[in-house]
Amino acid sequence: MRSTGKLHLGNYVGALQNWVRMQDEYDCFFFIADWHALTTDYADTSRVKENSIEVLLDWLAAGLDPAKCVMFIQSHVPAHAELHLLLSMITPLGWLERVPTYKEQKENIKEKDLGTYGFLGYPVLQSADILIYKADVVPVGEDQVAHVELTREIARRFNLLYPKTVESEKLTPAQRAWCTAKYGQVLVNTVYVVEPVFPEPQSLLTPTPKLPGTDGRKMSKSYGNAIMLTDPEPVVRQKLKTMVTDPARIRRSDPGNPDLCPVGDLHKIFSSAETMAKVNEGCRSAGIGCIECKGWAADGLVKILNPMQARRQKYADNPRLAWDILEAGSARARDVAGATMNEVRDAMNISLEYEPPKGPAQ
Ligand code: SF4
Repeated sequence: MRSTGKLHLGNYVGALQNWVRMQDEYDCFFFIADWHALTTDYADTSRVKENSIEVLLDWLAAGLDPAKCVMFIQSHVPAHAELHLLLSMITPLGWLERVPTYKEQKENIKEKDLGTYGFLGYPVLQSADILIYKADVVPVGEDQVAHVELTREIARRFNLLYPKTVESEKLTPAQRAWCTAKYGQVLVNTVYVVEPVFPEPQSLLTPTPKLPGTDGRKMSKSYGNAIMLTDPEPVVRQKLKTMVTDPARIRRSDPGNPDLCPVGDLHKIFSSAETMAKVNEGCRSAGIGCIECKGWAADGLVKILNPMQARRQKYADNPRLAWDILEAGSARARDVAGATMNEVRDAMNISLEYEPPKGPAQ
């Protein structure tokens, strides 16, 4: 997740809620992508650190637990940059120019100059972010599937260009098992191409319910229509009061349709089945007013937000605690990333050690 500061309900419903579930099922690595934030916001870096902490506080508030997953800051694991550089050597330009979000964002974000090398190359950085942990799956929304596909292509190209070979006597037990499965048997005095450095990661598509902002458009901080995870109850209620409704309900006596109303969308996500039934009945029969209905939607929201905000407060009162979580996570990530980089350098014949040339000393 990019370090863009405090998160809103759209971020929660679109990703975070799913991550909280995933931490119980997978060995998860979640990072605050401060380098990725620079691909579009390079001109003003004054709030990068502050924004990273805000993201972390919202993660902890939502229920990510440092005992169950690894949370870290991208820039605290410099190996991401090294792998990005190495992968950039083998990634054809055409692959990057074809990424759908590249064209789309260049056309939509007019106020910033995105004609930069970093912006074109950010999917390569993403690939490095994924491959460095040898991820099997990446939880993404529909719009990111193309990026995971690109990551697979880059992994395939790397594995093809730099096959890992090991003499049979030096195979690790895991490599021996892999070779036996692949080649049928392992002979003595033979060199084997062993399991490639990078597995090909799969997209784990997260079904994301439609979550409109207060003006009915997609919730986004840049549209000014977002309900933040940190909004206190009176602010949530006030924002809901101004939320657009089914345009067919001009007068109180006009029947409406919750399926055509942004408030109805909120109810579907946050309200109980019982409230939803009251909304459906009351809206369609003009038995309830929109003000009353919005009040129920606000009840559903604050029921979720209040405990989150209480959890957040604990860390906001003691930011050192939050920072320590990031530091411990970053150290763990550096270990895993470092081990992968050793394999990558080996496969590419790039050594960090000084190896004197073979032959007689002069
Ligand atoms: S009653 Fe509720 S669902 Fe129906 S139009 Fe009003 S706010 Fe929307």
